[in-house]
Amino acid sequence: MDTRTPLIAGNWKMFKTPREAARDAAALAKLVQGVEGVDVMIAPTFVCLAPVAQALEGSSIALGGQNLHWEKEGAFTGEISAPMLKAVGCSHVIIGHSERRQYFGETDQTVNQKIRAALDVGLKAVLCVGETEEERDQEKTLNVLDKQLKGGLKDISFSSGDDTLVVAYEPVWAIGTGKTATDEQAQEAHAYIRQVLAVLLGKELAKSTRILYGGSVKPANIAQLMSKPDIDGGLVGGASLDPETFSQIVRFQ
Ligand code: PEP
Repeated sequence: MDTRTPLIAGNWKMFKTPREAARDAAALAKLVQGVEGVDVMIAPTFVCLAPVAQALEGSSIALGGQNLHWEKEGAFTGEISAPMLKAVGCSHVIIGHSERRQYFGETDQTVNQKIRAALDVGLKAVLCVGETEEERDQEKTLNVLDKQLKGGLKDISFSSGDDTLVVAYEPVWAIGTGKTATDEQAQEAHAYIRQVLAVLLGKELAKSTRILYGGSVKPANIAQLMSKPDIDGGLVGGASLDPETFSQIVRFQ
């Protein structure tokens, strides 16, 4: 467990112009300068990646894409590929966010193709999984997690000691709603995810893979969430948009 460095990742969704994103990335870099023992990543929109990469030069904050296409290039209007993300300075990419599953038809199969494409170029894949409110009410949470993990990771192998996979548990009902899963609910889901990862990838990798919690993470709840043994960080939407607020989350310990 000690081997899992916490990761606090900010998903900026469809917010900020390139100028605003570069300004906020530079501000964040200053605010988290010198913070040790925690990795930080931000994922701005595609058009903001280049200016944010420039603003982050000299900082240890990593850059991530919010999505990608699985082909390297081709006639896919409006899409961005893994080599393109890599070339602009990304080290991470978020894959299968619930908003993409919900509004853009993403399936476990496309998630699987996208993870492969990311790994092919050495991008770290942040695989998002999580149940809807209805699924939780019907006590299907663990089945949903099982299906999304097995589908998303189908036939993909990782080398041991690899940190190229990050899983984000994001209960859909907690995203952008102000409702946070209790730390017990989150811990239960995280422990289950680690158990499934052990079956799919082996015990060693399951132990070293970071599992982030996402869903209305705020400065006020991060420490409590992080106190749980299987919660290794946060994927933060709304509260990542303001550099000062996000830096407080990064400084949770
Ligand atoms: C997210 O978009 O991944 C997310 C968790 O959003 P929020 O923090 O706003 O709930």
